[in-house]
Amino acid sequence: MFDLTDKIALVTGASRGIGAEIARQLAAAGATVIVNYHSSEQAATQVVADIEAAGGKAVAVQADVSDFKQASDMIKAIKKDFGRLDILVNNAGTTRDNVIALMKEEDWDVVIRTNLKSAWNCSKAAARLMMRQRWGRIINISSVAGVYGNAGQTNYAASKAGMIGLAKSLAKEIGPRNVTVNVIAPGFVPTDLTNYLLEDEEVEKTIIEHTSVRRLGRPEDVAALAVYLASDEAGFVTGQVIAVDGGLSL
Ligand code: NAP
Repeated sequence: MFDLTDKIALVTGASRGIGAEIARQLAAAGATVIVNYHSSEQAATQVVADIEAAGGKAVAVQADVSDFKQASDMIKAIKKDFGRLDILVNNAGTTRDNVIALMKEEDWDVVIRTNLKSAWNCSKAAARLMMRQRWGRIINISSVAGVYGNAGQTNYAASKAGMIGLAKSLAKEIGPRNVTVNVIAPGFVPTDLTNYLLEDEEVEKTIIEHTSVRRLGRPEDVAALAVYLASDEAGFVTGQVIAVDGGLSL
């Protein structure tokens, strides 16, 4: 088990799905976790309650991380309240899928802002603190779609590929200050984001057939890697894209 005692961690979009589980596992490893949410206040409060019931420390903070000022102000407030920020997980994300002929300009803009600009907004503010501390961990939650592309997801795949370029460049910039930046590329994980696809049993069957370990992913699979990448032990791992997809992309 990796020990994150005394670390302060921010997980964006931690009210539901993968982000909520990353928050729970970071807290279980000893970190104090800021559970960021956009609109799901009740769900975020429940994540905090779950963490506290398990003996951990967490607080829910509302901010639309696609907005530069809201993201920067949230991180300024973390510095004020907790004195530092050690771990940033850029997890907030959304989809507006369609073939390019039918995709609206707004669908492009919303997805790029929510998935990619948010990661830049938070990384910019967090990097400043982490460089001064001479210790930090930034983890971007991308997707296999960002590495291999996916029909109907030109906006989403571009945003997720952008998170990879951002991470590799930032890893080069701030590695000398002992701050690592890595990317997790999950495969298919049933959450509110993807459940509509599973309404068709054939889709689920096809995904499982193409996955080497013959099952869908779980938020726990992604969160376990996030805890490792956030740890002291991962200090020599940076600029990497690690798939957590059961072999879907092989
Ligand atoms: P989800 O269940 O739909 O949760 C999305 C989270 O993002 C929610 O907590 C939501 O907060 C938050 N969010 C959205 N817009 C936000 C904003 N502007 N500011 C702050 N928070 C915002 O999705 P998920 O499946 O857990 O996905 C989490 C991440 O994993 C995403 O980046 C996604 O692209 C990536 N991913 C997922 C899969 C998958 O199969 N599920 C695969 C690969 C990658 P509110 O509820 O408060 O609005």
